[in-house]
Amino acid sequence: MFRNFKMVSRVIFGRGSFDQLAEILAAQTGGKDPSAVFIVDQIFKDRPLRERIPAGSRDMILWADTTDEPKTSVVDQMTAQVRDRFERLPDAVVGIGGGSVMDLAKAVSLMLTNPGSAADYQGWDLIKNPAVYHVGIPTLSGTGAEVSRTTVLTGPQKKLGINSDHTVFDQIVLDPELLAGVPIDQWFYTGMDCYIHCVESLTGTYLNAFSQAYGEKAMDLCREVFLEDPPDGEDKLMMASYCGGMSIAYSQVGVCHALSYGLSFVLGLHHGIGNCVAFDYLEEFYPEGVAEFRRMMEKHQIELPRNLMAQVDDAGLEKMIDVALVLEPLWENALGKDWKRIMTRDKIRTLYQRM
Ligand code: NAD
Ligand code: ZN
Repeated sequence: MFRNFKMVSRVIFGRGSFDQLAEILAAQTGGKDPSAVFIVDQIFKDRPLRERIPAGSRDMILWADTTDEPKTSVVDQMTAQVRDRFERLPDAVVGIGGGSVMDLAKAVSLMLTNPGSAADYQGWDLIKNPAVYHVGIPTLSGTGAEVSRTTVLTGPQKKLGINSDHTVFDQIVLDPELLAGVPIDQWFYTGMDCYIHCVESLTGTYLNAFSQAYGEKAMDLCREVFLEDPPDGEDKLMMASYCGGMSIAYSQVGVCHALSYGLSFVLGLHHGIGNCVAFDYLEEFYPEGVAEFRRMMEKHQIELPRNLMAQVDDAGLEKMIDVALVLEPLWENALGKDWKRIMTRDKIRTLYQRM
C-alpha cells in the first residue's frame, strides 16, 4: 500500500510575508472578523514582532515557555484556557515560534475538537475529528514541524507524536526575516535536525524518488548554509527545513532520531542538541554524514556536551532503551525488516553508554 499523505494546504514564502497574516485569517472567515488564538514563544514578549501580531480584542495570546519541550499536560492546560475564554470554538489557532511552539499549536487545535487528554492520542491515527483551522509560522528552521503530520509531545509514559492527517497545518507562513537574531548554537542544533533528517531519509530503506528529490535538495541547501555561509542563508535554511520535512513525510528518520528521543525523555535534552549528541557516535551507520557533520561543527566552533551518561542510573538507561525501541518505523527504515536482530537492547545500551 502506498501512503496517501496529507500536505499543508497553503504556503506563503517571502521576507515580510508575516504582515499578510491578518489578511490570511480574515479570508478564512469570509471577511467576518475572525477570532484567533495566537500561541507565541515567550521570547517575543519583548521583541518588535509582538507589535506585529494581528491580535485584537476578540483574540487571545498564549505565551509559551519553551524551557521544556511540549508536554501533554501543557497542551491540556492551554486547551482548557482557550475553552474558558471563547463561547464557541475560535476560528484559528496560530503558532509562532520554533518546533516546540508549532507543535503546541497543532496539538491545541486538535484537542479543541477531540475529547480527553492529549496523552490519549500519542500514536498513529488515533485522532477522530478534524482540528480547528491552524497556522504555523516558524521563527527557527530545521525541524520540518511546519510540514509534518505529527506534533511531538512528552506524556506521562512516553515521548511520542500525535501522528494524523488532521495534525498537518492548513496554512504556513515562511518569512525568513523571522530567523534573524537566533543564537548561533540554537541555529546550529535546529539546522542540524534538518541535515540529519536528510541523512536518515536518503540512506533509509523507505526511500523512494519522491523523498529522494526533496531530501537531496534539502541536503544541498544545508551544505550551502553550514559550509559556505551564503548571504541569503535564512531563506535557504527555511527552504531546507521545508524540503527536509517533505522528504521524511514519505520516508522516515532513523537511528539518530530513535536514540535522541530516549535522551530527551530521560535527560530533558532538546531535540536538536539531542540529535547532535547522538549523531556524533553513529559513524557505524552514517559514515559520510557524520564526517560532514563534524566539518560543520568545526566551522561554527560548536562544542557538544559530553559524558552525559554520568548523570543516568541503570533504571534511567533502561527507560531510554524502552523509549527508543517504541519507534519501530524508525528502526525499520534505518536497518530493514530484520532490524530487531541487529538493534538489540544490548546494542542500544552500548551506543548510549558512549554518549
Ligand atoms: P524550540 O522551538 O524548542 O526553541 C528552542 C529555543 O529557541 C527556545 O529557547 C526558543 O525560545 C528559541 N527561539 C525560537 N525562535 C527564536 C528566534 N527567532 N530568535 C531567538 N530565539 C528563538 O526549538 P526547535 O529546535 O525549533 O524545536 C524543537 C522541538 O520541535 C522539539 O520539541 C521537538 O520534539 C520538535 N520537533 C517536532 C517535529 C515535528 O515534525 N512536529 C520535528 C522535529 C522536532
Ligand atoms: Zn528531527
